[in-house]
Amino acid sequence: MKKLPVIQENNEEEFSFKSLTDFNAPIYFDNNSTTQIEEEALSAMIKSMEYNYANPSGIHSAGIIARADVENARKNVANLIGCLSEEVIFTSGGTESIITAINSVVLTQTSKKHFITCLTEHSATLNMMKKIENVAGYKVSYLDVDKDGRFSLNQLETFLKIDENNNAMVSLMIANNETGTIHHNLEQAIKLSHKYGALFHIDAVQAAGKMSLPLLIKMAPDFLSISGHKIMASKGIGVLYVKSNTPFSSFILGKQELNKRGGTENVPGIVALGVVSRNPVANFDFRNKFIQLLSNNIPEVIINGGDIWNTVNVGFPYVHRESLVIELSNNGLFASVGSSCSSGIAPSHVLKAMNVDNKYIHGSVRFSFSKNTTENELIKSIDIIKKSYDRIRSISKGVINE
Ligand code: PLP
Repeated sequence: MKKLPVIQENNEEEFSFKSLTDFNAPIYFDNNSTTQIEEEALSAMIKSMEYNYANPSGIHSAGIIARADVENARKNVANLIGCLSEEVIFTSGGTESIITAINSVVLTQTSKKHFITCLTEHSATLNMMKKIENVAGYKVSYLDVDKDGRFSLNQLETFLKIDENNNAMVSLMIANNETGTIHHNLEQAIKLSHKYGALFHIDAVQAAGKMSLPLLIKMAPDFLSISGHKIMASKGIGVLYVKSNTPFSSFILGKQELNKRGGTENVPGIVALGVVSRNPVANFDFRNKFIQLLSNNIPEVIINGGDIWNTVNVGFPYVHRESLVIELSNNGLFASVGSSCSSGIAPSHVLKAMNVDNKYIHGSVRFSFSKNTTENELIKSIDIIKKSYDRIRSISKGVINE
């Protein structure tokens, strides 16, 4: 087999391979958007591309080896999720997993036309739900949330009772990507949904690697989605868990993935996910530490919702979030305006649903950590945030009204 050339870092003719570390003392607090790949996963991925590029469907020896790599990775992922290997379907990422799960219910539960989700879901879910409600006869109900971003079981039951024979599916995330709020009542929500005939999907994209997925599987959801690039594997790989015996149909027709999804497998991505799936759940006290440091130094901020250790959504009064994020970036701190899919002038749909005060909603910025974040970075970031906020605040004085 031909050995592939190593791409030089300075080969910038077409692609920019500038390392994040080339920026001036960078602090990367945008891990909910995407994470740096783990060294071991990267090395496994490169080996997979370099040594055996065979198609795992091939019946020759090289294909059989590639297939074995895929199946070993599937075992690791099944362990991470707490399910059977045959319940793991590799996809291209969180968005595909979510859309496949919802679409599968449309395709298999044809007599049921009521879907339920929440106002604070990721755009992957909301976009698919919008598609569904535009089809004649279908209805989607959206759960409201309180100021912390939590829905109520009462409202869920009210929705489920509208037409008990018509409930197709409830799709809810466990951890919110913008705020880190956890839906602690998901177990009861799943029980209620099943009682009223609906299948249940958990968007666990922001929970994987940070909380126990087997505990979620014990709650008996029918579907669960995760994404590789949020947990230090690569982009372009995700998983849809489909509980055994759940009716299933994918819009990506074909046989490759256990007869459930077509297309040649992304073997390097699958292998990378297999490697990171060996790691136990990470849990650090970054959230509390960061909030404490920040509130001591900028007491006028508020914290929008949140539970999970790696996410803090901060409301800065009287500034615009994009100006602040750019100023932070110029000062070496990479944060985010919220979801990567919702950047723009309009305030975040999540914070709007939580009824965050006008004074803070335009200036809300998400800081998201990884297990590689250091205490030193937390401490250093506070000075950068204070300096950046003071500057933007002095410019925008009076521009954003209460
Ligand atoms: N669901 C949640 C909660 C997310 O945060 C994201 C990504 O931001 C997705 C789904 C979509 O995942 P992917 O980027 O892998 O398509």
